[in-house]
Amino acid sequence: MSDHAILQCHQLTKRFKQGDLDVEVLKGIDFSVYAGERVAIMGASGSGKSTLLHLLGGLDRPTSGEVILDGVNLKKVRQAKLSKLRNRSLGFIYQFHHLLGEFTVLENVAMPALIGGSSITEAKQAAEEILLRVGLEHRVKHKPGELSGGERQRVAIARALINKPKCILADEPTGNLDSKTAESIYQLMLELNQELQISFLIVTHDPDLAGRMDKVLHMADGLIVD
Ligand code: ADP
Ligand code: MG
Repeated sequence: MSDHAILQCHQLTKRFKQGDLDVEVLKGIDFSVYAGERVAIMGASGSGKSTLLHLLGGLDRPTSGEVILDGVNLKKVRQAKLSKLRNRSLGFIYQFHHLLGEFTVLENVAMPALIGGSSITEAKQAAEEILLRVGLEHRVKHKPGELSGGERQRVAIARALINKPKCILADEPTGNLDSKTAESIYQLMLELNQELQISFLIVTHDPDLAGRMDKVLHMADGLIVD
């Protein structure tokens, strides 16, 4: 772990307006994720964890405050540059993998590399290497619907890794899996963190996993409480 911050947020707030309703979901969040660091976010349902991850990943804009990704203030970049930065620096893993059902495993994993400008040959080769690393070399030609839940989540991890991101944002990546499969997915993520020095920011309800991270942030009512 180094003292280089990959992801920082300062006084982050998010307010959702829906008709007459005006909900302040995040009320001023401050923290940093450092290079190679593993951070868990815990908190009750509705406490704003997914909202926070969306803002950190540049998938949504804050109401106020700042997100700094790899030294770039996201407030100051336009959409096209933001997409590029996100594609290059971050990987995303969701609770429900979000794989594209009509594409093969190989194609799903290769997609972010293609979007990032790699040739088809390069992207496929990189995808094959990562699928080998996550133990799915025998599944490259399958469609996601033909895989088990744990295998699908391994594909999602491979896809998140393909552009060699600085940080992976994972939103309840095992929320949908039985405990044994969840454990193997966590184990894989921890190994990848060690091997590749990628930072991981993981939303989880599992205190065992959280205990294996470098830092645990507890969210309540739109704030980090400690
Ligand atoms: P968590 O991931 O911790 O369960 P979320 O960040 O998903 O919590 O949601 C926090 C609160 O923000 C909830 O009350 C939710 O209804 C509200 N919320 C999230 N996204 C939106 C949205 N797009 N529009 C309106 N309200 C939202
Ligand atoms: Mg959530």
